[in-house]
Amino acid sequence: MTLEELHAGLVACRRCPRLVAWRERVARERRAAFADEEYWGRPVPGFGDGHAQILVLGLAPAAHGANRTGRMFTGDRSGDWLYRAMHRAGLTNQETSVHRNDGLALAGAYVTAPVKCAPPANKPAPAERDACASWLEAEWAQLADVAVIVCLGGYAYHSAWRLLAGTGVALPKPRPRFGHGVEVSLPDVTILCSYHSSQQNTFTGRLTEDMLDAVFARAVTVASNAGPI
Ligand code: SF4
Repeated sequence: MTLEELHAGLVACRRCPRLVAWRERVARERRAAFADEEYWGRPVPGFGDGHAQILVLGLAPAAHGANRTGRMFTGDRSGDWLYRAMHRAGLTNQETSVHRNDGLALAGAYVTAPVKCAPPANKPAPAERDACASWLEAEWAQLADVAVIVCLGGYAYHSAWRLLAGTGVALPKPRPRFGHGVEVSLPDVTILCSYHSSQQNTFTGRLTEDMLDAVFARAVTVASNAGPI
């Protein structure tokens, strides 16, 4: 299966009744600022380079961000922060990400989330996370060159851990605690943790641009050591 075939199957997924109802309701009702736009309102595929060495993992699409535009981390402030930082790190061709047809291209990076549908209050239920895990596993199986997983937030970190555990990777016990800048080196992949670029974190200064830049600079260094980006 190719990534394109995977994405084509994913966008038709209706496994989680609560999330299907929410993503479609948000798409129908819309935020006033986007009243003239047609929302995506479906599962949001991962986005980026099929030969990525750096996998960026978030939580789930935002209701009026990716659930509106159809591309991960696109159309909201969280994505603005993320793609600006990735641009400074040399991983994108432009620093803005506003819509899935805006010309943005990633080089050496792929952005996705463990839950592909927007959840109410950004909180997927454990059963929804589990239901969606097979999509992330399928993406992982296609991304054979990944040397670094950048986990944006604790949810992403735990999801990456479960993903790797499921593929038989020998993981240290106990699992290191999540924290900004925490790095876990495994035989074939390195996990790098960052605070999520959520508005809550960026507005309060918990995450600064310098902090995010440091994570991506480190990701590029680690990925470069594994092979040319
Ligand atoms: Fe399907 Fe994942 Fe969306 Fe659930 S969250 S409906 S498993 S794509």
